[in-house]
Amino acid sequence: MLRRVLCLAFFSGALLVFGLTSASAEQLYTLKTKYLTLKYENVQDLNTFNEKIDFSPDTSSFSSFSGTSQSSAGTGVEKKMANKLDALVEKVQLILDMRKPINIIIRIYPDETALHTAYFNIFKTRKKLRAWYIFEYNTIYVNAQDLFSGMLAHEIAHAIVDHFLAVRPPRATAEILARYVDRHLNEKAKVY
Ligand SMILES: [Zn+2]
Repeated sequence: MLRRVLCLAFFSGALLVFGLTSASAEQLYTLKTKYLTLKYENVQDLNTFNEKIDFSPDTSSFSSFSGTSQSSAGTGVEKKMANKLDALVEKVQLILDMRKPINIIIRIYPDETALHTAYFNIFKTRKKLRAWYIFEYNTIYVNAQDLFSGMLAHEIAHAIVDHFLAVRPPRATAEILARYVDRHLNEKAKVY
């Protein structure tokens, strides 16, 4: 659902750079995990985001998930969250059979209004998406209050698919793969 607006994103590149510059002036908090960089405006948003992501790693299917986290997370809660999110990324990689080093930015907005405003600021048009991913900025945009693990896995799948192949697949192909991932996230990944 995301990539149909990407041409527009490219077209308004100068505006995007300006928008990103002013966004960074807001002094966002950053939390790095092994695979993700979370950017958020306040700790409450991070907590809400964390509560929405209900995911238990199936440890039996992971060889690399051994608890040696490379995250910058400080507190116990943050470490637990980082491990959960990294396990989610690894599960998506496992389902897709696309394992390659990756670091994806997740911009967490506090509410629907903030998310829709962000969309308008980037694309200069209104569209009420619940989440989206922009390849050119390697960033997933989410609303902390309207999120679940399948939704995040879907967007992570877009990022992984777009970065894994030498040539990005057609948007229909990418969407089919991302939907497969969110529907089968909690099942044992098939091995081919
Ligand atoms: Zn999609």
